[in-house]
Amino acid sequence: MIGNLPSLDKLIHEFSKLPGIGPKSAARLAYHVLKSSQEFADDFSSAITEVKENISVCENCFSYTEEESICRICSDPKRTDEAICVVESPSDISSIESSGVFRGRYHVLHGVISPLDGIGPQDLKIAPLLSKIKDSLATDAPVKEVILALDADLEGDTTVLYLAKILGEMGLQTSRIAHGVPIGGDIDYIDHRTLGRAIENRIQI
Ligand SMILES: [Zn+2]
Repeated sequence: MIGNLPSLDKLIHEFSKLPGIGPKSAARLAYHVLKSSQEFADDFSSAITEVKENISVCENCFSYTEEESICRICSDPKRTDEAICVVESPSDISSIESSGVFRGRYHVLHGVISPLDGIGPQDLKIAPLLSKIKDSLATDAPVKEVILALDADLEGDTTVLYLAKILGEMGLQTSRIAHGVPIGGDIDYIDHRTLGRAIENRIQI
């Protein structure tokens, strides 16, 4: 802290709230902004404002969207309604889309079941997933398969077991992505070809 530059202290303080940014990195970033051009600072601050103003959560899959209420993937008539790929967070969708092997719909849980952190099924977007599937079963485009593309760690496994039981009782084919996903692996960090193979070689539960 400089002491006589409260505006700089404030920026350092804001940067230090970012994940993975300690006090030293926060100070380095803040000084970088200070030394940068006015144009850079304006672009940077408007990018932050715009991301909050323009992006909302899709009412159907709970991914992020810049459309009014339903995202592009949910409203794409060329995709099949027969398969839903369930992911932990919106960023997982871009990883799976890059692999190019999945042409169904998505559903974002916004987390995974983690009893140690006090996160139960009711804290996730599980109820809307189940009612969406239930509703589809009464239409001429019913969901036939649910692919659980969750990380291969304890919380991911717990969530897979929980969902597979309920979906099985509903008579749905449930699978989870398989080969190439290392134990404890975060699907965000797996290369696209490996992730593509993991989806193609998914294991039925
Ligand atoms: Zn959507």
